This record gives sequence, structure tokens and C-alpha cells, in this order.
Amino acid sequence: METREKPPTRRLFFALCPDAALRQALRRLLRKALPRGAGRPVPLDNLHVTLVFLGQVDEEAAGCAMRAGDDVRCPPFRLVLDHLHHWPRPRILWLGPRHTPPQLFTLVGDLRQRLQPCGISLDARPYQAHMTVMRKVGASPAPREVPPLAWDVTRFSLMESVSEEGGVRYHERHSWSLREGA
Ligand code: ATP
Ligand code: MG
Repeated sequence: METREKPPTRRLFFALCPDAALRQALRRLLRKALPRGAGRPVPLDNLHVTLVFLGQVDEEAAGCAMRAGDDVRCPPFRLVLDHLHHWPRPRILWLGPRHTPPQLFTLVGDLRQRLQPCGISLDARPYQAHMTVMRKVGASPAPREVPPLAWDVTRFSLMESVSEEGGVRYHERHSWSLREGA
């Protein structure tokens, strides 16, 4: 009998990834801002802001997503992370901007549109820019301000989420510079 192997798939998402300097600034901010013992801090290397989650996709869809990334047009922008929030259902604390810059909505919208031919079903919920900083947080602290951290966003990345022994890790598979429309 012929055995049919399932085509290999990878778990992919587009994201903004802090550079080394910003990661250090995040480390300092989070050391002060995170409630001690309230949950499990996200490892510094894992901090990111998801733009579009693709989920488990085959190589053809991954190639299509790469082409979508190639075609994106969006100017660089500044993202100011200045609030700490809690979502009770996923039990996470996250850092976010009080004001989401319009260019970030442009970037997400443009990516989603260019991903349409890829046949990937995307999350339909309205976009909320967030950086998950602590997991397994049960108690629900009120949202609060933190000292603003200004992030000059000049690039975006295609990430692969890999389950490893110590937990999930994200690997950058490609990154693109932000640039204005042609
Ligand atoms: P784990 O699922 O192992 O607990 P994780 O949620 O960080 O860890 P992934 O599920 O691979 O890892 O998700 C990668 C990124 O995509 C994370 O930022 C996650 O919040 C986001 N994400 C995951 N699922 C969705 C979804 N259905 N819609 C939007 N974003 C998602
Ligand atoms: Mg997940």
C-alpha cells in the first residue's frame, strides 16, 4: 500500500523584533515593572510584537508569505510602549502603546492584503499591538503606565515558532526594511 506522508509544515508569524539595545532597555524596564512572582517572565530573546500570525503552513504557503513580505510598503515609524495590561483568558501581561501609530495599522493591513493569495486563514480579531512579557498571570492587575520606551521601527521579520526542550523559541527566518510605497 502506498504511504502518503503529510507535507512538512512550519509555524510562522510576522513580527517586530527588538534589536539588542532595545532588548536591554526592555530588560531594565521589565525588571522594575513586572510584579515579582506573579507569573513566568518571557525570556528576553523571545520578546516581540506579532503583526500577523500565519500558523502551521506548508512550504508553498511559506514561499507565498515571503513574497508578501517582499511587496509590503510602509514607512518607518516610532512605537512607544508605555502601558502594561493583563488579559485574563490567555493569562498574560503585555506591554503596549497607548496610541498605536497609524503606520503600524498600515503595515498590518498591507501584509494581510498581500497574504490573501496565499490561502492562509488569518485571525479576524481587530489588531491590538502587544508584547507578551509575562505568562501564567492569574490575578488581574489594572492597566498601568510604565516609563515610555520609544522604539524606532525600521524592520519587520518573518519568524518561525519552534517548540524546544526549554520551551517555545522564535527564529528569524527573514527580515525586511520598512520603506515608502513606490
Ligand atoms: P505557546 O503557544 O507555545 O505557549 P506562543 O503563543 O508564544 O507560545 P505561538 O503560539 O507559536 O507561540 O505564537 C507565536 C506568536 O503568535 C505569539 O506572539 C502569539 O501570541 C501569536 N499568536 C499565536 N496564535 C495566534 C492567533 N491565533 N492569532 C493571533 N496571534 C497569535
Ligand atoms: Mg500560542
